[in-house]
Amino acid sequence: MKIIVCVKIIKGEINPFDACALEEALRLSTDVTVVSMCPPSAKDALLALTRLGAKVIMLCDNAFAGSDTLATSYILSSALKKLEYDLILCGRQTIDGDTAQVGPCLSKMLGVNLITNALEIKVDEGVKCKTRMGGESADFPALVTVERINTLRFPSIFSRLGEVKIWDNGVLGCDSGRIGLKGSPTQVLKVFESERGKRKCRFITKDELPSLVEKLLRENAESEKIKESKEKLEKILAVGDEVLEAANALGKNVIKIDKTDVGVIVSRIREEKPDAVLWNADLWGRRNAPIAAAVLETGLCADCINLETDGENLYMYRPASSGNIIAKIKCTTRPQMATVRTIVQSGEVMVGVGKGVSDVEKAADFAKKLGAELCASRAAVDSGMMPYEAQIGLTGRIVCPKVYIALGISGAVQHTCGIENAQTVIAVNCDREARIFDFADYGIVDKVENII
Ligand SMILES: Cc1cc2nc3c(=O)[nH]c(=O)nc-3n(C[C@H](O)[C@H](O)[C@H](O)COP(=O)(O)OP(=O)(O)OC[C@H]3O[C@@H](n4cnc5c(N)ncnc54)[C@H](O)[C@@H]3O)c2cc1C
Repeated sequence: MKIIVCVKIIKGEINPFDACALEEALRLSTDVTVVSMCPPSAKDALLALTRLGAKVIMLCDNAFAGSDTLATSYILSSALKKLEYDLILCGRQTIDGDTAQVGPCLSKMLGVNLITNALEIKVDEGVKCKTRMGGESADFPALVTVERINTLRFPSIFSRLGEVKIWDNGVLGCDSGRIGLKGSPTQVLKVFESERGKRKCRFITKDELPSLVEKLLRENAESEKIKESKEKLEKILAVGDEVLEAANALGKNVIKIDKTDVGVIVSRIREEKPDAVLWNADLWGRRNAPIAAAVLETGLCADCINLETDGENLYMYRPASSGNIIAKIKCTTRPQMATVRTIVQSGEVMVGVGKGVSDVEKAADFAKKLGAELCASRAAVDSGMMPYEAQIGLTGRIVCPKVYIALGISGAVQHTCGIENAQTVIAVNCDREARIFDFADYGIVDKVENII
């Protein structure tokens, strides 16, 4: 069985989700080819992968620089069309871009079956996977996106370095209007320090905490929503109920369509010719919106936390990949498409466990006493302290509890964007300068251990 693994090299290392995809490929077959679109500086990291017995092809050309997810998928698809394969494996997403769009887009461009979010992969006549949504199977050829389910093996001491083949656009023959910055329909207009969700923090002592929580639970407040726009887009299509409110805030004519087969949705988009299409950024939306983008050859911005319009353009806001910075993005093609983070109903009190919590069981007892739901930062999830389902933030849930208590959480923008709808935020951190205090109403400067 021939398997191709698409990998991204980030700061000299293989993207962790892609490493899992590669490990699965090596477990399933001896005929594995790694394909990576990257700058020349990534060559050493790719060369190291040849020690694992994989053939490696590097797609490298100045013309590829600045490609967004649609352009990247197009470049990868052009390379894969020159290769033979039964199965393509991609990581679920990259940890810098975090859009999870390339896998679904690529499957559509190649016309192969798609399974996303695989937790377990079995192959015989076709491919069978346990996924986050349940179970799925598909005939070959198929593309599967892989969750963080294993650890990439080390090369054996007898392994040898192989060769990294370099393919530039002379080999691929991509249409120059569809690659690089110029060929990318989504464009970052500006990046800026995130002020969203900033609060004025009053520092309290730990003894004041119980009575404060009790008082807060008696009060009510409105949660923040996408603001009603003065200028509106002529026509917006909302896919599913979750994004209907956002669509109404931004469009004169709003058409809602149910979450159904993506082919049906694409036909409806072609028929209605809306200015914009909004999708909920849940597992379903993150799988199907990129497919629609590939068919319609239009830009898609992932995981937007805010949207605005001047009546013509849709301005899409999402935390940038590094630093506590928000990017304002515009789409140059039509329809303009976005997956939108929508609020998930949650418990009245939520206790967020961060990397600064040394004893999760004690934190769970503390939450139980308050009748609170336990949740987590990504660092806590990544280190195995808490399950992914508990993650709050850009790539987790956006929640709106009456009270959110952040324990040992630094307050990165990717986390605070998930809690800005909380009525009141209380933060516990031993570092007085921690960013979380700028996004909290009440702060306790102390060790988590002393509070819980
Ligand atoms: C594309 C992308 C998407 C992301 N999506 C998310 C997301 O959805 N959700 C998310 O949360 N993050 C997300 N992140 C990661 C985010 O940038 C941060 O790395 C993460 O939120 C940090 O988690 P943390 O605050 O628990 O850990 P750290 O940053 O390690 O902070 C731990 C904090 O605990 C404090 N501390 C340490 N010991 C103690 C103690 N004993 N008592 C009290 N305080 C203590 C420290 O002062 C520090 O402030 C994403 C990142 C990227 C690049």
